[in-house]
Amino acid sequence: MPICPKCKAEIKHLLAYSEVVNNFEIDINGEPFCFGNDNIEGYTTFECPECNEDLNFNEEEAIIFLRDKDELQKLVAEKIKKDETSKIK
Ligand SMILES: [Zn+2]
Repeated sequence: MPICPKCKAEIKHLLAYSEVVNNFEIDINGEPFCFGNDNIEGYTTFECPECNEDLNFNEEEAIIFLRDKDELQKLVAEKIKKDETSKIK
């Protein structure tokens, strides 16, 4: 599992916050009708769910951080399994 570089906790996900611009109309009844929102580019922050520290990742880095560690974890698990299997034989 990925380890937070700030608090060293094992984390399964990151908290992402992004600023958006909401575009909407309000009709005569005061009912808002949202017709879209735009992400303000570059304003997504990724925080550790344990310590709530901003890990200074961009989206690509956040995905690599989560995915690569998982793949590494799988490889380690498979290696352990192989070692155990070879011991039995
Ligand atoms: Zn943390």
